Amino acid sequence: MSEMPEPIKNPEIQFTKIFINNEYVDSVSGKTFPVYNPATEEKVADVQEGDKADVDKAVAAARAAFKLGSPWRTMDASQRGRLMQKLADLIERDRVYLASLEVVDNGKPFADAYDADLGEVINVIRYYAGWCDKICGKTIPADGPMFCYTRHEPVGVCGQIIPWNYPLSMFTWKIGPALACGNTIVMKPAEQTPLSALYMGKLFMEAGFPPGVINVVPGYGPTAGAAIAEHMDVDKVAFTGSTEIGRIVQQAAGKSNLKRVTLELGGKSPVIVFADSDIDFAVANCHHALFWNMGQNCCAGSRTFVEEAIYDEFVKRSIERAKNRKVGDGFQSGVEQGPQVNQEQFDKILGLIESGKQEGAKLGCGGKRTGEKGYFVEPTVFYDVKDEMKIAQEEIFGPVQSIIKFKSIDEAIDRANNTTYGLAAGVFTKDIDKALTIANSVQAGSVWVNCYDPGLIQAPFGGFKMSGNGRELGEYALHEYTEVKTVTIKLPQKA
Ligand code: NAP
Repeated sequence: MSEMPEPIKNPEIQFTKIFINNEYVDSVSGKTFPVYNPATEEKVADVQEGDKADVDKAVAAARAAFKLGSPWRTMDASQRGRLMQKLADLIERDRVYLASLEVVDNGKPFADAYDADLGEVINVIRYYAGWCDKICGKTIPADGPMFCYTRHEPVGVCGQIIPWNYPLSMFTWKIGPALACGNTIVMKPAEQTPLSALYMGKLFMEAGFPPGVINVVPGYGPTAGAAIAEHMDVDKVAFTGSTEIGRIVQQAAGKSNLKRVTLELGGKSPVIVFADSDIDFAVANCHHALFWNMGQNCCAGSRTFVEEAIYDEFVKRSIERAKNRKVGDGFQSGVEQGPQVNQEQFDKILGLIESGKQEGAKLGCGGKRTGEKGYFVEPTVFYDVKDEMKIAQEEIFGPVQSIIKFKSIDEAIDRANNTTYGLAAGVFTKDIDKALTIANSVQAGSVWVNCYDPGLIQAPFGGFKMSGNGRELGEYALHEYTEVKTVTIKLPQKA
């Protein structure tokens, strides 16, 4: 962990307007929407509300920036890399401020925002900066005499729609590969957390990105988000959020111009703990797998399967650990868990906790609101959870761990796969055969052995089944932001 500086407890909100063509502008409608601090429930800003008309303006700016012969299209790939490195330097310079904005906007503990989120943000931009001049096609020994080669060209104008759980991380997971490949961007941050995304506009200008390359339109999903997904002049849409809205985005793409679609959706990820594991290590990791980021994590390990022989002890220690979890305002030092992002999520989580109780799961600890103000939920552990219960089926997206007993490896695999999701899975064991059997058998885009979500930005991340399609991060994400063009040239003779 890097040395932890003091947060800015009342960060000045400098940018609340829509960012188009390297300018901050008001919404066409003149409307604004409020942004709240989830720890205090107090309003922190009114932000310009982007809608279809603003998306149209942003798409036109992105299209102009993408035009053949434009500064962006004619820029050397290595220069794109330099701009991205400069952007990473500027984020590093403003890291304390940006991490503080994340606390106000999202509620997460400052230490997590500064260390994990901002650390990842900087690394992602630097990683993709390095790729800019290394995106290569192939020469192909086609039947001939022909000279045949491929070019990996940018897709074009990319719409990117992101959620509120990792505001700036999700922002950079999306812009990193898109910029590296030479695309232009219209970004819609989540309505709950637009502040850090808007501040990035200033940094894009300072880094020297040409106007129109990146545009940020804050607004609501059914208006601004839908306008991106339906737009006839957007070439690709990348979405992270719920499966329900992912489906709508994919349909909108199909109904409009068949734009390319990548989706990173939810999960109900299993973590399988075998009796040969170091129990304290497994308890600590399973706790982290679920409670990290207030449980608001698409790959949260939300079904903890524990082998019968250690089940009772595992449950006891997991309850002890959850009871010790420090909950409070993200600016307080030592806090591990802040509030949930808003009233809607808070209500949904308490509703699912209620359903767990009614369906007969045993409540080990938690289960209620904590504090009078702010959307704080007690760290909650259910045990003796059955597969058919709602808490074992639905994405809770909150600090609620469900511990489930299993007897055999085959049973664990069947039950782990018994979900419509397929984002991630974890396994804890000292037996390499068990680890590999699980790794090869679970239907999940990522499998972690004796760790959970180590956050490797160089490795691909994405879902099987209804957890989405396409991959983010690593080299694989570059495929999602390039079109492959085959060029074939007739040669005079075989040689
Ligand atoms: P969501 O509705 O899927 O929102 C994700 C993004 O999509 C937001 O920017 C949202 O805009 C936008 N959006 C909403 N409706 C849209 C539409 N019709 N067309 C285009 N874009 C649209 O997620 P949520 O409401 O924030 O959270 C609901 C549940 O989703 C959570 O409880 C959790 O289960 C899941 N979730 C998953 C992830 C993940 O990382 N996979 C992240 C967040 C939430 P707004 O600004 O109006 O919301």
